[in-house]
Amino acid sequence: MSDWTKSDWRSKPRIQMPDYTDADALRVVESKLSQFPPLVFAGEARRLKKQLGAASRGEAFLLQGGDCAEAFDQFSADAIRDTFKVMLQMAVVLTYGAKVPVIKVGRMAGQFAKPRSAPTETVGDVELPSYRGDIINELAFTPEARIPDPGKMLQAYTQAAGTLNLLRAFSTGGFADINNVHRWTSEFADGQAVKQYKDWAERISDALDFMGAAGVDADEVESLATVDFYTSHEGLLLEYEEALCREDSTTPGAWLAGSGHMLWIGDRTRQPDGAHVEFLRGVLNPIGLKCGPTMEEDDLKRLLATLNPENEEGRLTLIARFGAGKVAEHLPRLIKTVEAEGAKVTWVCDPMHGNTIKSSTGYKTRPFESVLREVQDFFGVHRAEGTIPGGVHFEMTGQDVTECTGGVRAVTEENLSDRYHTACDPRLNASQSLELAFLVAEELQT
Ligand code: PEP
Ligand code: MN
Repeated sequence: MSDWTKSDWRSKPRIQMPDYTDADALRVVESKLSQFPPLVFAGEARRLKKQLGAASRGEAFLLQGGDCAEAFDQFSADAIRDTFKVMLQMAVVLTYGAKVPVIKVGRMAGQFAKPRSAPTETVGDVELPSYRGDIINELAFTPEARIPDPGKMLQAYTQAAGTLNLLRAFSTGGFADINNVHRWTSEFADGQAVKQYKDWAERISDALDFMGAAGVDADEVESLATVDFYTSHEGLLLEYEEALCREDSTTPGAWLAGSGHMLWIGDRTRQPDGAHVEFLRGVLNPIGLKCGPTMEEDDLKRLLATLNPENEEGRLTLIARFGAGKVAEHLPRLIKTVEAEGAKVTWVCDPMHGNTIKSSTGYKTRPFESVLREVQDFFGVHRAEGTIPGGVHFEMTGQDVTECTGGVRAVTEENLSDRYHTACDPRLNASQSLELAFLVAEELQT
């Protein structure tokens, strides 16, 4: 992009980013990061963009999921493996439901910075700056912990590199074999009292048995023995993003956000004249744009033109996050705007961020039934408008946490305190995630 440089965002209004007090320390970190290798390669970002283009036409379906915020003290091989494993299980169920390839994108290997609803937090009569994610400051409620420290960007880079390395190993090293993945799902379905999950699992088993009998050996067919797995995060901390932004060696003038395959712009930082839109408009990666209830049609029009001036398929994913009961009010007007502009977008449903409530026991939670209802309404509106639902975006983990209420292995408000581990928003646990995949697969059939 000729009218753009990776530092232009610095002259635009910056919000939701820390004001680092130690400018020298910041410069040292930025200079180190800009010498480190990028985490992803431009060819991978382009391939994902192509696949998202297929999702915009109903020829693929996006499954995007992972933590609200990755945390330094929860970095472990087991946690990465468990989330990866559940996403693969969900993908098999969704592939069977949608009859199209499922694109797997983790909110992983870079999802460290968080926008906050207030700049400060008060406990009793103590007011401190808000926690903004482990890449910026610390969760502990002390004045020192809340000081933004640029050195944390280096630790985030290291954790992202380690996470991505393991994900790449799992993707091609045998772990992701479809028979393995399906066996885990059958075990889940067998343990549930819900007949419809068992029926689904049996039908998928039959399909795999048939392929086996017909001579298709999963070990030898690359598409059944390995997976493509991509990473994504909110492009929020622009000092980090700029330092990892690289010119594509194969296409001079094209710039890659090297921190992850797909980056999105949050619902709080999507001002058409703001720093975040300015940075992301210039990178070649596929990008997401969160659309909440306050998204105006005029702003959306400007954002479509700014973020995807060539109207390239797969470039822009609109991630709708209105809240259960609000989809019918907001989604049709935004779909109509997109259609009137003739804009090519991939529509995705995030049923998490509009459905956060405070439980009677004081925990931030999300009821499973609200999450499901938002997904169902999203599909219903697309059916009515004749447009394509291209995917889903969940906050989830493979661990057995108790952060969202409901699901077949019902988590109650009283249970929330048992294993509430999130540093930020409540996530679906492994069982709730897989259950939701079965229910989304049903929507894809109708
Ligand atoms: C998020 O995805 O974690 C997030 C903060 O979402 P939103 O920008 O939609 O509120
Ligand atoms: Mn979140």
